[in-house]
Amino acid sequence: MVKVLDEHERTMAFAEVALGQIRSLKQTAIPRNYEIWYVYATGYNAPLNKIINETLARNGKLTEADLEQIYDTYLSHIKTTDRIDKVGARVIGEIDDVVDVLSEALGMTSSYDASLSGAAKELSLAKKADQLQSIIASLLRSTSDMRESNKTLEDRLILAKSEISNLQQSLEAIRAESLTDPLTGLGNRKYFDRMIGMAVQSALASGEPLSLLLFDIDHFKSFNDSYGHLTGDQVLRLVGLSLKQTIKGQDITARYGGEEFAVVLPNTALRQALTVADHIRRAVMAKELKKKSTGEILGRVTISVGVSMLKQGDDTETLIDRADACLYAAKRNGRNRVICEVDPEYAVETHNRVVA
Ligand code: GH3
Ligand code: MG
Ligand code: MG
Repeated sequence: MVKVLDEHERTMAFAEVALGQIRSLKQTAIPRNYEIWYVYATGYNAPLNKIINETLARNGKLTEADLEQIYDTYLSHIKTTDRIDKVGARVIGEIDDVVDVLSEALGMTSSYDASLSGAAKELSLAKKADQLQSIIASLLRSTSDMRESNKTLEDRLILAKSEISNLQQSLEAIRAESLTDPLTGLGNRKYFDRMIGMAVQSALASGEPLSLLLFDIDHFKSFNDSYGHLTGDQVLRLVGLSLKQTIKGQDITARYGGEEFAVVLPNTALRQALTVADHIRRAVMAKELKKKSTGEILGRVTISVGVSMLKQGDDTETLIDRADACLYAAKRNGRNRVICEVDPEYAVETHNRVVA
């Protein structure tokens, strides 16, 4: 019962922040705006918070158009392909508009050209001052029309530039989202598959070392069963955070599956990879889990890690298989430990697998 109340309190706090924002910015309290502010209050969607903070700092408010764009870009539940189609349609619409404005401007240029050659001919024949005056007056009129048309074209092109840069941002957000795990903010499986493929190829080509860590939370099922799925999700976020804090630079981190994570370490030999693995293991274990609302201590979680290093004749699959076998050996040998492919536990593991 206590658990349910905690979750109730936590989500009510987010709801109050969301409604408070809607009230103070005098927005409509429609579900879309509530969702934007609720997610903002949780802080789980960093790009959404960033764009809101930047827009508020710049303009002091969020317009209807801003809210719509933020929702479409960062929260929309419509399928990625539909969102790409929507952006594509906007790009085509924008190009059509610009082409229309350009053809109008081209028409203006050719009529200006005609009026200049007409004036040149008339000037060569003109004898009297009033004839000259009228030619000049007509030249001035067409010049002023031309300037106006140039100004319209320039304004429209500036608008197009800003619209296209918005569309680029939307596409970038869609791309990033399609490769990101929403819970932890780490790369997802698709990102991992893509990145490890490239990293392995480049290591095989250059002869540089490359190591892989696969890790899995220990006894996570019983943690979920005791404290609930939502608290389980918080633990996943915390493990993701420990990983982000430990891993920097060119290393590739991803949520590999439910409660499994992967780290690809380019230019890293087995010995250094073991050090990194142990850092992550310690960083996770160092965090004491506490319920924010009650201060109740939930304990600590541990992880088991398997480490493999790329060798000649390897491909992505064999590298992953060995790291996975090491991870399995780490589980079988008591969990909360790092096992690599030169450890005796790994040899026993593979022997057992072959025999079985
Ligand atoms: P082991 O030490 O052998 O890894 O034990 P385990 O309980 O962690 O492993 P098992 O594979 O039996 O259970 C994995 C559990 O992870 C199942 C499920 O409850 C939990 N899990 C997987 N994905 C998610 C998720 O996205 N959120 C939450 N809260 N739990 C998840
Ligand atoms: Mg597990
Ligand atoms: Mg697992």
